[in-house]
Amino acid sequence: MQNAERLPASLCIVVPCYNEEAVLPETFKRMTAIFDDLIARGKIAPSSHMLFVNDGSKDATWQLIAEASETSPYIRGLKLSRNRGHQIALKAGLMTCAGDIIISIDADLQDDLAAIEKMIDAHYDGADIVYGVRSSRKTDTFFKRFTAESYYSVLKSMGIDIVFNHADYRLMSRRAIEALREYDEANLFLRGLIPQLGFNTAIVEYERHERFAGESHYPLGKMISLAMSGITAFSIGPLRFITYLGLMIAMASFIAGAWSLVVTLFTDSTVPGWASTVVPLFFLGGVQLVSLGIIGEYVGRIYFETKRRPHYHIDQLVGGVKQPSGPKNERLLEETNS
Ligand code: UDP
Ligand code: MG
Repeated sequence: MQNAERLPASLCIVVPCYNEEAVLPETFKRMTAIFDDLIARGKIAPSSHMLFVNDGSKDATWQLIAEASETSPYIRGLKLSRNRGHQIALKAGLMTCAGDIIISIDADLQDDLAAIEKMIDAHYDGADIVYGVRSSRKTDTFFKRFTAESYYSVLKSMGIDIVFNHADYRLMSRRAIEALREYDEANLFLRGLIPQLGFNTAIVEYERHERFAGESHYPLGKMISLAMSGITAFSIGPLRFITYLGLMIAMASFIAGAWSLVVTLFTDSTVPGWASTVVPLFFLGGVQLVSLGIIGEYVGRIYFETKRRPHYHIDQLVGGVKQPSGPKNERLLEETNS
């Protein structure tokens, strides 16, 4: 119990929300019950709260958050100026939140709230980062389960350190958050980045439920884009693969060349015809286009990184969000308060 002397810690739960009006009232209710209970039992400080990040929702999500922040002592809100995607919305919340321990969770109640207390216990036992890991994927479709599991194996094979079956349900201590603040990349894949921070880590298993209401905001296109980020942000394995592929094809063509020379010089066989010319041509054309595409993925990401554009802008803060994440936000806070 290394933190025993400063028990109980102040907790902040960060919840990115995009078009979540259907679930938010239930999420408020269930999380409030957890806060009441944990505070009453002295597990967390009374200053603990939740920070809902509205990621440019088109429905009543922000109205719900703003209203709730007026009546609930726990609920605070941050409104991004537009939709920036789950990873950036989450990072905005993590960089703005106050508190000694920070837990990130989805708004849709898919992640079991009972794991919150287990994560806090693991933190009190000395972990700076506690990963929520799904004990089963029963509620997923076969397609999602299959693609997710193959993807994790591909990442592992490229040497990318990632926690199997962990999404973005995790606890981080204040110093882990401050360490994360120093990573300023635009190509954000938090579940790959956070294991790079180091520190003491622990794992808490939980059952993942069905979405409480509403629809998933991760259609196939967005999933592929996140998957690409996960690879290109941490590994140049695919680029090296192109080099090896090129070497292998060069070697094979050298052997084929030598063989055809032997055939021409020492036998009377007819010259191989059309197929042997056209097939390799198409094959090599395909290999070259795929290789260019892979290089393009990296070049595109380098392009975005070099622009050094701000990742998000904060439009509004409600419920007494106090901690600014930098000089720009300090200015914004003064404006909001005046
Ligand atoms: N989300 C977000 N911005 C987006 C898309 C999603 O903040 O552009 C939030 C969403 O409100 C939810 C979390 O990210 O809290 C996970 O999204 P979702 O549940 O749709 O994904 P799934 O669980 O189906 O992978
Ligand atoms: Mg979900």
